[in-house]
Amino acid sequence: MTKLKLQLSGVVKEYPTGEQPVRALDGIDLTIDGGQFVSLVAPSGAGKSTLLHMLGALDTPTAGSIRFNDVEVTTLDDNAQSDFRRHQVGFVFQFFNLLPTMSAWENVAVPKLLDGTPIKKAKADAMRLLDMVGLAQRSEHRPAQLSGGQIQRIAIARALMMDPALLIADEPTGNLDSKTSHNVLEILGDVAHGSEGRRAVVMATHDLEAARST
Ligand code: ADP
Repeated sequence: MTKLKLQLSGVVKEYPTGEQPVRALDGIDLTIDGGQFVSLVAPSGAGKSTLLHMLGALDTPTAGSIRFNDVEVTTLDDNAQSDFRRHQVGFVFQFFNLLPTMSAWENVAVPKLLDGTPIKKAKADAMRLLDMVGLAQRSEHRPAQLSGGQIQRIAIARALMMDPALLIADEPTGNLDSKTSHNVLEILGDVAHGSEGRRAVVMATHDLEAARST
């Protein structure tokens, strides 16, 4: 079993806009270990999403190093980077991004179906994850038939489908009431703390109440 270690050093990200580039990250040094549930807390525009994109290899820094276990993510070519992302990183966003015409289990199964896993196996894995987030009874429901909190739990199950070492959540409770938020945060905490160090969860939030659970 590999324990996750994620190490950033001197990470800079500049966006080339107009005459003056925007420096969204200005030399970030950060270590994240498997088993941790970490929150990035800052006001809007501070660079949280940018940092999450770097952690998840959705974008490449302008300078600096990102080591994911023994892999220097910043030097991977496009194909290797997208392969890395597909297998090592799960994403949960504020606006759930479920496919409206698919049932809950189909939404959860999508990453494995795209990866060529036979449907029977993908469905069994999806059902196990739906059970973990407390929604086994809703597997045939479509997103429109579910509440915001239920949809976010399905999005978490989907993000875990490839058994990623890193789960990234960008304002995952931004659209939820406080009771539902609490439930989602509890699940995210379990995902990190119950992984025996294999997995970390990193969440961006501007909600101090949410950050308290990390
Ligand atoms: P947060 O997630 O904390 O709200 P962001 O990471 O989205 O912050 O943004 C950090 C800064 O980078 C902001 O000034 C934002 O306007 C800028 N920025 C983010 N993405 C881009 C982009 N694609 N092009 C240009 N500027 C960007």
